[in-house]
Amino acid sequence: MAAKSFDLIVIGAGPGGYVAAIRAAQLGLNVVIVEREHMGGICLNWGCIPTKAMLRSSEVFHLMERAKDFGLKAEKISYDLDAVVKRSRGVAGQLSSGIGHLMKKNKITTIMGEATLPAKGKVSVKTDKGTEELTAKNIVLATGARARELPGLEADGDLVWTYKHALTPKRMPKKLLVIGSGAIGIEFASFYNTLGCDTTVVEVMDRILPVEDEEISKFAKKQFEKQGMKILEKTMVKQLDRGKGKVTAHIEAKGKVEKLEFDTVISAVGIVGNVENLGLEELGVKIDRTHVVVDEYCRTGVDGLFAIGDIAGAPWLAHKASHEGVMVAELIAGKNDVHPVRPESIAGCTYCHPQVASVGFTEAKAKELGYKIKVGRFPFIGNGKAIALGEPEGMVKTVFDEKTGELLGAHMIGAEVTELIQGYVVGRTLETTEEDLMNTVFPHPTLSEMMHESVLDAYGRAIHF
Ligand SMILES: Cc1cc2nc3c(=O)[nH]c(=O)nc-3n(C[C@H](O)[C@H](O)[C@H](O)COP(=O)(O)OP(=O)(O)OC[C@H]3O[C@@H](n4cnc5c(N)ncnc54)[C@H](O)[C@@H]3O)c2cc1C
Repeated sequence: MAAKSFDLIVIGAGPGGYVAAIRAAQLGLNVVIVEREHMGGICLNWGCIPTKAMLRSSEVFHLMERAKDFGLKAEKISYDLDAVVKRSRGVAGQLSSGIGHLMKKNKITTIMGEATLPAKGKVSVKTDKGTEELTAKNIVLATGARARELPGLEADGDLVWTYKHALTPKRMPKKLLVIGSGAIGIEFASFYNTLGCDTTVVEVMDRILPVEDEEISKFAKKQFEKQGMKILEKTMVKQLDRGKGKVTAHIEAKGKVEKLEFDTVISAVGIVGNVENLGLEELGVKIDRTHVVVDEYCRTGVDGLFAIGDIAGAPWLAHKASHEGVMVAELIAGKNDVHPVRPESIAGCTYCHPQVASVGFTEAKAKELGYKIKVGRFPFIGNGKAIALGEPEGMVKTVFDEKTGELLGAHMIGAEVTELIQGYVVGRTLETTEEDLMNTVFPHPTLSEMMHESVLDAYGRAIHF
């Protein structure tokens, strides 16, 4: 059968690929998208969305346990784990099928199958019905990533789980070990701990949430410990001995190994890019530690071949993938006002309790880069809305360039900060200064007032603290 010809072939229908396809179709290109498993990728099916649905259940549970604080009565509070999972899978399914509709609406051809690249400009797709050959001048690789497995700590789905198992638990762990305290590890630790599971988090670095500002990591640790979580920093899981219904973890700290028993382990030690079996090496694509090497415009160095999202490296975030998708689609369509994605302007959010969100440089990074800085802080306890919500724990920290007043970074912990951070992201895009932010009127009573107060504090002008 003759190869079908398109303007653009997108491989992978996650938030990188499907967004690239839609933007290219909007710009008049004839687009085909190839997906081997599920529309919406990891994000909609096994990542961002189902985790947030699960965390919403644990958040409501936590609020019900605190009903008395709000003058309410809730007795015999419990949960139905199967129903929690069913809701989460339902939310994921609803959104995933929505992507199928978006493809149809934008007249994008969808092929369900496994893609390989036999030659430049060519894609071969293995489907249930056989093999389809496709050609296009431009190809966008958006094949994403999967859980990293460390030797000896591999998941088995029974005692040792990856995020997929942790999203579809058949039983509630009683004693849980979470290996890794990045966003994924901490979100699962928060979910299971809130539902009453005895939870220990092990982090090899010197603090949890190691990409966050040090003050935020410390604040988070204190809060999690108050909730009963055990946090072991500068600690490494060396070995897991799997027995009947239990795992003995060999945990090393300061050169000493301690053996601790758990009934479940969640391994959240990072991700690896899906770079294998695509034919990339043969095409001359450079791969560095499971990620495709790209320039700031996501070009691979092979003419007409782009890589976006998780396969193109950190930060491994859905909104970074989508934004790169838009950028490459516009580049391919010949738009000449295309800007590269700036990693330091991409916010990171962790939906644990309390939530964590940040954008830009941490205080330490700003100093390391040689900036003379001004730092502002504002605690949730000084904010009327936070008190009214019954959420007095948290803080907003801002970092400014003393010389220019540029907002270099913002770091938040507390209720709803994942919704607030975008205010600072917009500020950074508009290259806002301390003066613009101080002159902005924030509505009252809102949590966002703390964003204002933190800026005021950096310049010795905070009102409510
Ligand atoms: C538990 C968890 C929670 C997360 N929470 C968040 C969050 O809150 N916020 C956030 O921003 N990010 C979050 N992430 C990360 C986010 O899911 C990823 O950054 C995002 O999905 C990356 O998008 P992508 O398009 O690059 O790849 P993916 O979403 O991984 O999509 C890639 C797609 O390519 C397909 N594919 C792969 N190889 C082939 C092939 N050869 N042929 C055809 N199809 C192929 C795959 O089946 C997949 O559907 C989370 C991740 C996990 C695991």
